[in-house]
Amino acid sequence: MARYTGPNCKLCRRESEKLYLKGSRCLSDKCAFEKRSYAPGQHGQNMRRKVSEYGLQLREKQKVRRIYGLLEQQFHNYFVKADRKKGITGENLLQLLECRMDNIVYRLGFAPSRKSARQLVRHRHFTINGRIVDIPSFQVKVHDVLQVKDKSKSIDIIHLALKESRGEQIPWLRLNKASLEGELLEIPKRDEIPTPAQEQLIVELYSK
Ligand code: SF4
Repeated sequence: MARYTGPNCKLCRRESEKLYLKGSRCLSDKCAFEKRSYAPGQHGQNMRRKVSEYGLQLREKQKVRRIYGLLEQQFHNYFVKADRKKGITGENLLQLLECRMDNIVYRLGFAPSRKSARQLVRHRHFTINGRIVDIPSFQVKVHDVLQVKDKSKSIDIIHLALKESRGEQIPWLRLNKASLEGELLEIPKRDEIPTPAQEQLIVELYSK
C-alpha cells in the first residue's frame, strides 16, 4: 500500500500545528515546529492570506489525514464508510480511524508514532486474538486482544516506546504492560478520542 514518505515536520509546519508524528522527538527541543512555526517554502514566513471557508475545511481534512498517516483516497474511503453508518458521520469517521490496528498499537504505547506502529505491524510483530495480523488498516473490534508476539517481546523499540509513552489515559483500551497485550474495551465516543479535530468541517467539505 502506498504511503507518504516525505518529511514529517514539514506537515506540521504546513498545518500550523504540532501533529506529533515523530514520537519523543516531538516533545523535545529538536521539534522543528518549535523552531520554525511558519509554513514551509520560500514564502512561508510571509503567508498572511485570509482563509476562505473552503480553505478551512480543506486544512482540517488534511490535518486529520496526516495525523493518521493516510493518503487521499484511503481517507476518502473512510469517509464514505462513515457516511453509510448510522449516527454522526464525523464521529463515525474518527471511530473508524481510531480502530485501525496501527492506531491501537500506537495508543497502547507499543510504538512511538503511528508510522512506527505501521512498520511494526507490517513486520508481523503483533497478534490479534492469537493470530498474526500484518495489515495496519485492520479494523480492531470490541474485545479483540492485541498482543506482542512471543518472539518479538524483546524488541527494544516496543519497550522504549512503552517507557516513553505520553501516559495519556485511554479509557476505551486496557493495557497489560507485563504481558504486552491490550484490549479494545469499547468503541470510543467522540469526547474520548484525543485527536484535535473539527470533524464537522471535513463532513462539510466532502458533502459539497
Ligand atoms: Fe511535528 Fe515537531 Fe514532531 Fe516534527 S518533531 S513531527 S514538527 S511535532
